[in-house]
Amino acid sequence: MASAGVPVSAPDWTGPYRDRAVVLRTYRLAEADRIIVLLGRDHGKIRGVAKGVRRTRSRFGARLEPASLVDISLWRGRGELDTITGADSAGNVEQLTALREDLVLLGRAMAMLEAVDRLTLERTPAPDLYDRLLRGLQSLVSHPSVLSVGAFLWRLAQLEGVAPDVERCVHCGAVAEFVALDIAHGGLACRRCRPPAAPAVDAETVTVLREILGGRLADALARPEGTAAEAVERLGVAVLEQHIERRLRVPPLLGPVGAAGGRSAEARGRRAHR
Ligand SMILES: [Zn+2]
Repeated sequence: MASAGVPVSAPDWTGPYRDRAVVLRTYRLAEADRIIVLLGRDHGKIRGVAKGVRRTRSRFGARLEPASLVDISLWRGRGELDTITGADSAGNVEQLTALREDLVLLGRAMAMLEAVDRLTLERTPAPDLYDRLLRGLQSLVSHPSVLSVGAFLWRLAQLEGVAPDVERCVHCGAVAEFVALDIAHGGLACRRCRPPAAPAVDAETVTVLREILGGRLADALARPEGTAAEAVERLGVAVLEQHIERRLRVPPLLGPVGAAGGRSAEARGRRAHR
């Protein structure tokens, strides 16, 4: 059941604590109880039991859905699971509530949440990752794009210090004629150095990756939609998979404009700009 696959050592303290946290995932524990996995701003990943949340009159069950932002109260005992004693919706509630009401966007958000879940260790503070996740979710609502998840995954890789070098060939230092991303060696490969199994990249993808990793995400988002978004996301998943050696489940990209999800996302983007 443990999401990180890493045994959790006994806590070095016990008692009540509070945190602001994003709900990463939930799963059923017993008839009326759920385990809630959260990323806390101060405490890192938290696994807590919410007792009775599956009953209809639960005090805080509805606030503990994935992608919710909550001010949470817990009790840390001697076991692996803390006990959730209270949860209140926290800041930017409307934004993230909108996210949970749009199934396409929610699917994209779940891909972000899962990546963060796999990357984090319980009871290990990760404030930069928390900030990145919160901003990623908020921008998914305010400026949904086919690049949203791909850019998020690459920025996560950058935060983890495992983003490949996208400036030169990792083998010979060449600065042109890139044809592949050699993830195992941590960088681009030129035409002469390409290992047979390395996934192909085109020039547009390299440009978009440079914009994302160089802090120029707005430039990347302003591009007309091309083939790069799909490649950026697929390669981002591969980079993180190599890092965590586990498979990420990533649902398909946001539908094209004109499909129900795309229209909804576009409309939301317009609203956010007004
Ligand atoms: Zn080379």
